[in-house]
Amino acid sequence: MKRLGEYTKPTVLFVDMNSFFASCEQQVNYYLRDRPIAVCVYTGKQGCVIAPSIEAKRLGIRLGMRLDEAVKICPDLVPVETNSKRYREFHVAIIDVLRQFTPDVLPKSIDEAVVDLTRCQLMYKDVREVAQQIKRDIREKVGDYLRCSIGIAPNAFLAKLGSDLQKPDGLVMITPETIDDVLRNLKLTDLPGIGTRMAKRLEDKGILTPLNLRYASPERLRAVCQSVIGWHWHLRLNFGGEVDLETSAYKSMQAMRTISTAQRRSEEQLDELLQSLCLTLERRMVRQDVFCQIVTFYCRYHDGRNYSDEVRLPEPKQDSMELYHLIRQRFERFQKLNQCEPILNHSIRSMSVSVFRFIPAQLVPFSLFEDNTRKNTLRKTVYEVKAKFGSDKLMRATELRDNPVFRDVIGFGSIKDLHDDQNPF
Ligand SMILES: [Mg+2]
Repeated sequence: MKRLGEYTKPTVLFVDMNSFFASCEQQVNYYLRDRPIAVCVYTGKQGCVIAPSIEAKRLGIRLGMRLDEAVKICPDLVPVETNSKRYREFHVAIIDVLRQFTPDVLPKSIDEAVVDLTRCQLMYKDVREVAQQIKRDIREKVGDYLRCSIGIAPNAFLAKLGSDLQKPDGLVMITPETIDDVLRNLKLTDLPGIGTRMAKRLEDKGILTPLNLRYASPERLRAVCQSVIGWHWHLRLNFGGEVDLETSAYKSMQAMRTISTAQRRSEEQLDELLQSLCLTLERRMVRQDVFCQIVTFYCRYHDGRNYSDEVRLPEPKQDSMELYHLIRQRFERFQKLNQCEPILNHSIRSMSVSVFRFIPAQLVPFSLFEDNTRKNTLRKTVYEVKAKFGSDKLMRATELRDNPVFRDVIGFGSIKDLHDDQNPF
């Protein structure tokens, strides 16, 4: 993490692979190189283009086009069926390359990552040179046909913006000296995290351009956005601090409760508390769009003793009931093995569940857990509906209890969730 006042140094890189899926296909199949190709979920007439190659984009092929439409525009277009395992393997190899420059690498999606060189300033004299080296290393160690655009800036938001400005094979640095020239040529919706709705809201209040946004006072932005989100926009565009890379937010998440005397008496209540902790973590993981690979449980008893357990998951998880059942199974195994009293007993004073080692949700469907993908989409939809209509309009069976515990959880999560909501990536 940077110290206050250090947020003007461009030490954050955002690496965005260009036309990633299509380039992976061109990497492994020499015949496809330098041709307009379109990666599709299936290659029938009604198939949908999910990733046009750089060459196809130049000819006007866009993501989401139907294959028959695309072929009308570009008769030479070569359709290729999608191969998720392949893209995941390339992703892993690319992240490995990035980690050779610094341990502070945060994958943002299957084809994007933040490389934070803030802690490595003594190692590298010239950040531009590092960016060039990353491009060379990806070509030499992963695939000679793979290109990326890299943005360099003092914070992750501006670095991402920089990576969007020049494609393919771009390298753009944004500093306090150049930011106004960069913003002058952009629309509000060109900024990552500003959709048409948010743009309309800003425009209604007289903030018409990214430059207006930069120079609006933080008080005014807070009033326009009616939340801390406005303050964060001020920080992002004025080098006031990092709001998109809170290390604690992605290295671990913890949900903790101290337990009242009344709750302690009933085993059922303790059990529901445990479920509520898992639910809190699920909500945060859904907001951050990540799955966890390690879960820990910790509790303290009144006499000062404690119990703790750590589980490395054989497959990444996000679902609260899966986490809950896993922890329960471990309890039962421990109790049986050691012939001891129940772990959730009447002298328990506090308990916490933590999750670690996150991977982006987008990477999970590419592994073996096809079943989870659909559940994941459903879970996200549930939360989106909640965000739109209020959290009590739609609940899953686990939340539908005549018990204030779950309503409580939603209350506790709100500050954190507010923060997560405006992560622009
Ligand atoms: Mg990309």
